[in-house]
Amino acid sequence: MDRVTRFAPSPTGPLHLGHAYAALVAAARGKRFLLRIEDIDSARCKPEWETAIYDDLCWLGLSWEQPVMRQSSRLLAYDAALAQLYHAGLTYHCTCTRGDIKAALSAPQEGVAIIGPDGPVYPGTCRDKGHLSGAVRLNMAKAMEMLGETSFDETGIHPGTYRFDAGRMVETIGDIVLARRDIGTSYHLAVVVDDAAQGITEVTRGEDLFEATAIHVVLQRLLGLPVPVYHHHRLIRDDQGKRLAKRDDARALAKYRAEGATPEDIRRMVGL
Ligand code: GLU
Ligand code: ZN
Repeated sequence: MDRVTRFAPSPTGPLHLGHAYAALVAAARGKRFLLRIEDIDSARCKPEWETAIYDDLCWLGLSWEQPVMRQSSRLLAYDAALAQLYHAGLTYHCTCTRGDIKAALSAPQEGVAIIGPDGPVYPGTCRDKGHLSGAVRLNMAKAMEMLGETSFDETGIHPGTYRFDAGRMVETIGDIVLARRDIGTSYHLAVVVDDAAQGITEVTRGEDLFEATAIHVVLQRLLGLPVPVYHHHRLIRDDQGKRLAKRDDARALAKYRAEGATPEDIRRMVGL
């Protein structure tokens, strides 16, 4: 089977060296290489950043299959996946604000809050309240009861098979948000639905998303979608060893281009 990979940037700012590395790794590993614009958060995404992405990737010498998938045109697919989980009895509505969650977690009986891939693990305040609106959360305990255990195969920096049992998923990840109140979906739900729709067989991405992968595999299994192989790669760091932030304009590809750097220079700078 041909390996299918993707690069999935959000058009919220200029691509920097870290993005270049991620795109080059994905393109090099895929027999087929696809692009997806992750623009569900319309408050933060801008069309000019999307144009800049195509521009930078072309300049780097990359090409990808058409059409490009754009998440802003996929909202019905996310709704369908959400409905599937709802009908399986695995979701509930949550009306908590960030402040409510913080307050609940600082109650004396709660002990030390565990920080999961989405921030503090949700204390479950709304789980049995029967709210009719709000954010939609996954009932992780119920989900894991259905699945037993989940696992995925990793071919990146720490290769091997990773297994997640119910206890670990409930304690360290918990009832994650599937649909935000404002955008009706979430990064986790959208990425899973779209990787399946694009037929991605190997998801390549930065090691900062390693923990989130456990969530994605749970969602793939619940939705009856194939579980791809995962390839987490190292992150590009600045001279102080800090990983480049989402908006590290100082290392924007466009800036290096303007200063006369070549695509080969960029490859060298990211260690390829
Ligand atoms: N859109 C995400 C980002 O910009 C990447 C998502 C993924 O690779 O799964 O970091
Ligand atoms: Zn709540």
